[in-house]
Amino acid sequence: MSRAPSRYTSHVILFSHTACNAHRAPLGHPECPERLDSIVKAIGIARAGWKWTEPRPATREELLPIHTAGHVERVSAAQEYAPTQLDPDTYLSDGSVRAALLAAGAARDAARSAMAGKPAAAIVRPPGHHATRDRAMGFCLFNNVALAAKQAKRVLIVDWDVHHGNGTQDIFYEDPDVLYFSTHRWPFYPGTGSRAETGSGRGLGFTINRPFPWNTGAATFKAEFAAVIDGPCRKFDPELVLISAGFDAWKNDPIGGLNLEVADFAELTEIVKGLKRPIASVLEGGYDLEALPKCVMAHLEALASGEPRKAAIP
Ligand SMILES: [Zn+2]
Repeated sequence: MSRAPSRYTSHVILFSHTACNAHRAPLGHPECPERLDSIVKAIGIARAGWKWTEPRPATREELLPIHTAGHVERVSAAQEYAPTQLDPDTYLSDGSVRAALLAAGAARDAARSAMAGKPAAAIVRPPGHHATRDRAMGFCLFNNVALAAKQAKRVLIVDWDVHHGNGTQDIFYEDPDVLYFSTHRWPFYPGTGSRAETGSGRGLGFTINRPFPWNTGAATFKAEFAAVIDGPCRKFDPELVLISAGFDAWKNDPIGGLNLEVADFAELTEIVKGLKRPIASVLEGGYDLEALPKCVMAHLEALASGEPRKAAIP
């Protein structure tokens, strides 16, 4: 039995650039170019008609509201010594700075596309949510989703990567115009993200962390996720919703530890769509090269499919 045709166009604008893969990983590093290759291939097979758009790289001026000048200069200057390490797990090859500027630019462009009424996704690397105002860490050079958040006045960032997005939290911790909501395994890398971290100053109450112990079941995870989206996130009434879309909470991810199935990423997307606000998605983690493209496709198909379906929350 076929589904009734939708009156909505099933489409997502995809922002990506081949130069993202000039960010070349040391041998055996999980954050490798094959991640992006696997996703691009899967989208090409499943949705040949979807539109790919090259982003404009982020400029220094665009990065300065979210990063210190010292950070932007340190990352740029490190290129001279490439290949090098910025911290024990964050590497930099000679194409990395351009890749990182394109990744941030893609996130910005995806946000603008969403604001213009076209759901969009930045399919990029390096990822961004661990990059703090002043520091590259956790595979991340610049904070892509933070630049995206500068494209609207009142922004919800939903971060379902298995790791806490300490960098995004850091950048917006005192900002009441950005609600940061993260689900993640805890205790786990990078160590932040307890429920007690709720923002400070004017931003108090605008950071929401939902940590889950190792091996938490998908039903528990989704119920908590839906409760926060339908409660405080809806009440916040964002103008734009950004998803820090990591797929390392998939059940067998090599650096994960939670229990989501492929279809759960479609369900999480439907829950976010229930807010009925423009959505842009920004790729973060996800390190199983077989499962990653399937999880991304489940997420993007849901993002593309128009009106939210009723999510099957137990
Ligand atoms: Zn992650």
